Amino acid sequence: MSDTLNQKVKDLLPAMIRCRRDLHKYAESGWTEFRTASLVAARLKELGYSLTTGAAAVKKESMMGAPAPNVLKAHQERAVSQGADPALVAGMEGGLTGLWADLPCGGPGPRFALRFDMDANDAVETDAPGHVPNKGGFASINKGVMHACAHDGHVAIGLAVAELLAELKDSLKGSIRLIFQPAEEGVRGAAPMVDAGCVREVDFILGVHMGVKADKKGLLICGARKFLATSKWDVRIQGKSSHAGSDPHMGRNALLAACAAALNLHAISRHGEGPTRITVGKLEAGQGRNVIPPNAFMALETRGATTELNDYMTSEAARIIKAAAEMWGCTYAVSTVGGTKSGESSEAMVDEICSLARAMPAFSDVRGIEDFTGSEDFAHMMTEVQRQGGLGTYIQVGTILKAGHHNDHFDFDEDDLAPAAELLVRVVRHYLGGKK
Ligand SMILES: [Zn+2]
Repeated sequence: MSDTLNQKVKDLLPAMIRCRRDLHKYAESGWTEFRTASLVAARLKELGYSLTTGAAAVKKESMMGAPAPNVLKAHQERAVSQGADPALVAGMEGGLTGLWADLPCGGPGPRFALRFDMDANDAVETDAPGHVPNKGGFASINKGVMHACAHDGHVAIGLAVAELLAELKDSLKGSIRLIFQPAEEGVRGAAPMVDAGCVREVDFILGVHMGVKADKKGLLICGARKFLATSKWDVRIQGKSSHAGSDPHMGRNALLAACAAALNLHAISRHGEGPTRITVGKLEAGQGRNVIPPNAFMALETRGATTELNDYMTSEAARIIKAAAEMWGCTYAVSTVGGTKSGESSEAMVDEICSLARAMPAFSDVRGIEDFTGSEDFAHMMTEVQRQGGLGTYIQVGTILKAGHHNDHFDFDEDDLAPAAELLVRVVRHYLGGKK
């Protein structure tokens, strides 16, 4: 049977590559994945899955860092002009591009969820002639948006897995849930899907990423620890303009308030219980040389090795921003535009997946839990499943990376999509009592 599955995945590889290339060409960034999500929805429906979409799949009030309504509207139109189904796109109005698909199997049993992220990066793809998407004619035609993190590959894997599991369903016990998540970049999409119930009554959850720490063929990392918890904030400081020559005393200098805040944010005391980070990555203020600056904007982020450590950073940051604004007689507003909890894979699940993977010739170097030391909002979903008493893990599938993630030359070896899909099917089959 195993060889049959291996052969089926091999047969599906050309379709996976076609899908990946199509998504790569029409790359869509966070909350604008109208074309991607509607293609996914149409295919899953065709395969017999029942879908949860739109406002039922993404809690609008929990959305973080969504583009303005007019920008979203323009993307809806763009998606339709690029071949998306207008009715499906209309159902995602407002950027509600997340969805999940359920498939009951042949009898009662656990619910197994797989999560695939769909968004591309705000990046300009290289025009280097040697870059494979340029050679193959599938480089992004959506200016300033590029799949530089392999999420195009993840969606292709997800649809192949959907097809294979639909064929197997009668021999399995339990149910399958495939979660297609928007806006992973900037860690914005998981929380509103969790709030809408995407992991409710989920017993097992698995997330997958091509590459990241698994940067060679045959390497598989079956679990992750030290996902950094993080918060992304936009801070606006409001002062008062006045004449810099005659009335400087009448103004309220938002530029100086922001500078005081930025310096002191970077001076937050380190925490004794683990690593923390803070970066004010952008600061803009003022209007003209002879005007007391009435406005300032800061984009900042905090991180922590645990959710608690990140909470410490955000509470200190809030105190400092408030104090700096008050010191200069200004007011301020903070908006959260992204964030995720920390997380750690469930060891029992990691062990099971390691032994399933070791039986696959495609993986020559199978490893257990390793440090992630970045942020990934899959941790938000996994932590919620674990809190409910379930298990979860995040696997990184080895591939040759042409350049680092988020680099304009990023690319991976498409042949490695096949072992990733095969492993996911084997894992689900194992947990839902199918053939070994
Ligand atoms: Zn990624």
